[in-house]
Amino acid sequence: MEPFQVMTYLVACPQSCDAVIIDPAGDEDKLLALIETRNLRVKYILNTHGHADHVLGNPTLKNLLKIPVCMHEADDKFFNDPSVRETSSHELGLPPPDPVDIKLKDGDVLEVGTLNIEVIHTPGHTPGSVCYRVGENLFTGDTLFVGAAGRTDLTGGSLNTLIQSIEKKLIVLPKRTIVWPGHDYGESPTSTIGKEMEENPYITDFILE
Ligand SMILES: [Zn+2]
Ligand SMILES: [Zn+2]
Repeated sequence: MEPFQVMTYLVACPQSCDAVIIDPAGDEDKLLALIETRNLRVKYILNTHGHADHVLGNPTLKNLLKIPVCMHEADDKFFNDPSVRETSSHELGLPPPDPVDIKLKDGDVLEVGTLNIEVIHTPGHTPGSVCYRVGENLFTGDTLFVGAAGRTDLTGGSLNTLIQSIEKKLIVLPKRTIVWPGHDYGESPTSTIGKEMEENPYITDFILE
């Protein structure tokens, strides 16, 4: 487990060994060892949003692997506003990330080997939160957890917007889509969209009634 209990994911194309790191949150040595033993060529660092605990490993990994950091343009802009930086630093006890190399937009697709990584903008937890969809896998960051959703009381958060994102962008995906959340807060580390539609109170109470 990482210092802030953030789930870091390493996603690789089995054919080409090209890979991405999603939300490097510390413990870079472990990650680098895994990259080396699997012979992976990491192409991008992908952040699901700009909260400090999800971007801790950005500078080290960017420098060592010589790869670009990617984040949605709205969070890149938001967390580089001086007043937001100050508020967010107080809230999380760490400064937000520096400007990123690649600013993502909703619908962008990153090609990594044979994998297509689709950017789905899901604001609410932060203005530029995204989920990354890779085939039937959905990396949800702090937008959707197993049995819960991200908090909306931090600067830039909005419960209404978060619920709309889940309704319009996530529960429309195939029910078998596997949810890989940014924190392991639920009864299991992963779930599916179908299971969350049955059990997640943010969906059953706020959306489906
Ligand atoms: Zn967060
Ligand atoms: Zn988080």
